[in-house]
Amino acid sequence: NGSLKIYEKLKKMISEKGLLAEIELVKEVSHEGIGVNISGCHGFCQMGPLVRFEPSGLLYVKVKEEDVEEIVNTTVIGNGVVERLLYVNPKTGEKITTQDENPFYKRQVRVTLRYCGRINPEDIYDYIAHRGYRAIAKVLNNMTPQDVINEVTESGLRGRGGGGFPTGRKWSFAAASPGTKKYIICNGDEGDPGAFMDRSVMEGNPHSVIEGMMIAGYAIGADEGYIYARAEYPLAIQRMRKAITDAEAIGLLGNNILGSNFNFKIHIKEGAGAFVCGEETALIASIEGQRGMPRPRPPFPAVKGLWGCPTVINNVETLANLRYIINNGAALFKSYGTNHSAGTKTFALAGQIQNTGLVEVPMGITLREIVFDIGGGLREGKKYKAVQIGGPSGGCLTEEKLDLPLDYDELIKAGAMIGSGGLVVMGDDTCMVETAKFFMSFVQNESCGKCVPCREGTKQMLALLTKITEGKGTEEDLVVLEELAHSVKDGSLCGLGKTAPNPVLTTLRYFRDEYIAHVRDKK
Ligand code: SF4
Repeated sequence: NGSLKIYEKLKKMISEKGLLAEIELVKEVSHEGIGVNISGCHGFCQMGPLVRFEPSGLLYVKVKEEDVEEIVNTTVIGNGVVERLLYVNPKTGEKITTQDENPFYKRQVRVTLRYCGRINPEDIYDYIAHRGYRAIAKVLNNMTPQDVINEVTESGLRGRGGGGFPTGRKWSFAAASPGTKKYIICNGDEGDPGAFMDRSVMEGNPHSVIEGMMIAGYAIGADEGYIYARAEYPLAIQRMRKAITDAEAIGLLGNNILGSNFNFKIHIKEGAGAFVCGEETALIASIEGQRGMPRPRPPFPAVKGLWGCPTVINNVETLANLRYIINNGAALFKSYGTNHSAGTKTFALAGQIQNTGLVEVPMGITLREIVFDIGGGLREGKKYKAVQIGGPSGGCLTEEKLDLPLDYDELIKAGAMIGSGGLVVMGDDTCMVETAKFFMSFVQNESCGKCVPCREGTKQMLALLTKITEGKGTEEDLVVLEELAHSVKDGSLCGLGKTAPNPVLTTLRYFRDEYIAHVRDKK
């Protein structure tokens, strides 16, 4: 979007005025003057590029290269505000000056994303200056591996990649598995269409992922970790690589970390973008150099994972929560969220909504709050119709579900799931059968073909949905479609196939009239 050009121009103009401060914390360069820093994503995608001033929190939106001169003259030198670059609240028409007052940010609680958009992700010392690597220091100095597992179990943290399995429990299985060689894998494969939370964390705060992997490694007795990141995320991979190199250079990765007897090294494996490689056993096969296909479980990876060794796979967002839990304690983490879904969750807000972007909210918040308070409601005067939550594994939720608290269990009861956190908002002109077809086409394409129910079932379901949307379907096709959906769900080997029918089943549950209209009116 031209952010880098804006950065370069800001730096150049401020430098020409003799005001530029060097921000190089390691060299203890004087902080006098004005620093210009790059950052990771602020989350407010709809309004980018963003320029934020510290410490005031003044936020300019949709900044262009040609605005830079006015910004420098008005705000950097003159302490004034460029009114036309302020965010305008679509509901009230009010111009919002600071980030904290902005309705998009006001309701958010940022734990994972706390420093994304605030620190320079390419500067390890900026991370350290923001309490970075303090959690691993605390762990190595004051906690046994079991203490760490207990703290994480107590926090109630559940896997943020989709399954929602309790993280502490997963760790205790791997810690108890016999073997001297164990692995931590960071799952950064993030394949849901429209989801980019893991990418944002890897790009915006890569050291928080490394620190999380170290904490997990210490807890289960692993001395080696892999980051599995999709190759379509070149900036995330580049920043993760730099972060690893920088951490190694100052002894935060390697042997005898911080004077302890804990050794840990990290490798990066680039995934080729197969959705199924987000599944744990397929991901392991892919790292091992085999074709990325799931295998039946048990044995579970915590017992027999990478190269036959006990392995814990946690997703990026899960790992990025760990420093907060260790630094602040399980009780504070648990103070956000609901009884069975503690903490916060990052969602990617997309679709026909005013404010698209990345938001982090306490678990238990309602869809209504996300869509209307944070997202600003629908665009172009459209009426809310549904939200597809959890990507192709999730489901569509209607207006009656707007007050449903967003947590793992409530969503499953409603036939959807949090998944990795994709939220696509749809207006009243959206055809729900077409929506179901879109997701079915995605999963059919991504099915690895290993088991019949998924390989053939998704193909047949897609053919039926195509027939129905082309106005050639019959009421009998609807019956077959529903039966097939249940067969695919029950008979598939891995999560991809087991959840693939969810968009069809939820749309059939909540929008059956639209299917019927297609087959009766032949449209
Ligand atoms: Fe492959 Fe689908 Fe079977 Fe999973 S359910 S193993 S993706 S064919």
